[in-house]
Amino acid sequence: MEEKAKILTEEEAIQQEFQTLQNEYKQTAHRQKIEIITKAFNFANAAHKGIRRRSGEPYIMHPLAVARIVVGEIGLGSTSICSALLHDVVEDTDYTVEDIENLFGPKIASIVDGLTKISGGVFGEHASEQAENFRKLLLTMSEDIRVILIKIADRLHNMRTLGSMPTAKQLKIIGETLYIYAPLAHRLGLFPIKTELENLSFKYEHPDTYAMIEQKIAADKAARMEFYDQFSAPINKKLTALGYQFVLTARIKSVYSIWKKMSTRNIPFEEIYDLLALRIIFKPKPDISEKEQCWLIYSAITEIYKPHPERIRDWISTPKANGYEALHVTVMGQDGQWVEVQIRSERMHEIAEKGLAAHWKYKTGEHDESELDKWLKAIKEMLKHPEPNAIDFMDTFKLNLFASEIFVFTPKGEIKTLPQGATALDFAFMLHSDLGLRCIGAKVNHKLVPLNYVLKGGDQVEVLTSKKQTPQKEWLNFVTTARAQSRIKVYFRREERLRMLQGEKALKIEMGKLELPLDTENLNKLLSYYKVLSKNELMRQIGYGNLNLSELPKALIKPKKQENFLWRYLKLPFTSSNNNSTSTTAAPALPKKENNIILTEENADKQYQLAPCCRPIPGDNIMGYLDDSGVVIIHKRQCPIATKLKTNFGSRIVTAEWQTHKVFSFVETLEVRGIDKMGVIIEILKIISGKYSMNIKALKVESEAGIFTGTFEIYVHDTEEIKELCENIRKIKEVNSVQRIEKQ
Ligand code: MN
Repeated sequence: MEEKAKILTEEEAIQQEFQTLQNEYKQTAHRQKIEIITKAFNFANAAHKGIRRRSGEPYIMHPLAVARIVVGEIGLGSTSICSALLHDVVEDTDYTVEDIENLFGPKIASIVDGLTKISGGVFGEHASEQAENFRKLLLTMSEDIRVILIKIADRLHNMRTLGSMPTAKQLKIIGETLYIYAPLAHRLGLFPIKTELENLSFKYEHPDTYAMIEQKIAADKAARMEFYDQFSAPINKKLTALGYQFVLTARIKSVYSIWKKMSTRNIPFEEIYDLLALRIIFKPKPDISEKEQCWLIYSAITEIYKPHPERIRDWISTPKANGYEALHVTVMGQDGQWVEVQIRSERMHEIAEKGLAAHWKYKTGEHDESELDKWLKAIKEMLKHPEPNAIDFMDTFKLNLFASEIFVFTPKGEIKTLPQGATALDFAFMLHSDLGLRCIGAKVNHKLVPLNYVLKGGDQVEVLTSKKQTPQKEWLNFVTTARAQSRIKVYFRREERLRMLQGEKALKIEMGKLELPLDTENLNKLLSYYKVLSKNELMRQIGYGNLNLSELPKALIKPKKQENFLWRYLKLPFTSSNNNSTSTTAAPALPKKENNIILTEENADKQYQLAPCCRPIPGDNIMGYLDDSGVVIIHKRQCPIATKLKTNFGSRIVTAEWQTHKVFSFVETLEVRGIDKMGVIIEILKIISGKYSMNIKALKVESEAGIFTGTFEIYVHDTEEIKELCENIRKIKEVNSVQRIEKQ
């Protein structure tokens, strides 16, 4: 009896969640198709009946939550809601895509199919498998963008409920999230979702630091709000006087971005000054453009506060590639503090929050092609010429996903968007492949520049070409866009294939003259004679004219009694690595018996080594990676190599923790900068070796223009100790900054 009551409550909870979903849907401007949504819900609810998530919740709560994100946070309509409700049905139950198609039609079926195809996660066991999955993801995405939007919603809900996963699994999921989903969300203009994904990843990866930052934000809250009230009051008054309807909000930097700033600049929390921003969202008045009104508001604000001359960001005249529009200005507040003010119309705000879906809603005509549309087109392009090496493909794609943009102009004044760091050659390829392949240089702002010239925002670029030009291998070293890279590679692949065929033809003719067959035996003789490793390479080298075919008789008829080159080559690496065994780059191996690090149960008796790339010391957040030889390599969690390992080989990640402190000492490098005054270095040394009796391994001091930079390599035991040391050095009056140099 009691059992029954419990089941009833659960079913009620499910129905209640569905009711909430419907309510949220009813508030949108979408055409109301409650019937099909109800049908999808009932179907999914029955299909997942009796199954639970790791958290203990009934499974259907997950698709319901994903559907709520899809409608509430991304702004999609009934087709996407149904697909979200059904997204795990094919994967986890006996129903097939055909069943879905029969019940819900081809559109929903194809989205569910796309979601099922990429359900295994982008990152498989092997790098190749991972890249293939990634390609699948892009393919499904370019077929119907809703697939990836729902996938992002799915990931967001999984991140929100990550707490019930075991640590190793968490790290794998976090790796994927930071590697692909957060950048994708950003690229698609889903700013709040991107921020939440990053924050959650950080929270699970560095729980202590996260809690510390969160607590510091909370501690300052009262003072900050007081400052905000004072700062915003005159703006509020002025905009009201101008007859605007608007909302002012205080924006606090996310924990993740605070941490990122702290760690990239090596500064403490207290030195982050742009914690607070003010956002203005206004209802535009009729008969005057939104752009003009943004500038009117700008001028109203700058009558109150002085603007920073170099910090105006006009994302209205040229929106960001992800569709973002707004006017950002940084002004000086009451006590000399810089505050960023973001000015947006209601429409701009909706685009900033909901990205793509909102973007389409406001799209006026077919010719109104946004940067996002162009981006999706470019992906489709890329998929048409996939690189044979799937991993390269993924890397080039990633390049374009992360890059922030610059705007440059054609000689006719057209604006083009390029990733930061793009060169003149990238620009040529962007205009047209033929322009790229024939490019000999460019004129930037009417001055002649080489192909590898890095463009800056606002540059006016004219591409110079020559019919005689052919692409060079070195080009690959400086192009940064996926488009240019793939075009150049395609060119060389074609070229090499051609040369190979030419080489083979030439060789056959010469062999024919000697009346010798091109069989395995002769081929091996040739490989050995010309010191080439493969048949294809041999043909290619002949095709390029690098090998002298008049030596054929020498190579084939009177073979020298020489060691087979292939064999020699194969032996080479062993001899050379033996010679290098005294090198100093080897990782310091710690004997397992010391028990300095604890590994999780099934790996408890494995050997481990500290990774030479990031050299973790006790107190650092760490993780282990089980390598091919069965040794666990210990990395810092934030080590870039560790991030790659997490995403590529999630199943090999081993949970690792420090056990004892102050047993071993580790070399850490501190960089101290300050005013070069007599005796200041001695004072630092006093603290290091006197107060803390630490040993110094190496010391270097440089001084320039009255500022010294001292690099101290010292033996320390753990992060606590080094933190304390830094704090004490910082107390010296002449010292400006102290930072731990990350070895990566
Ligand atoms: Mn799911």
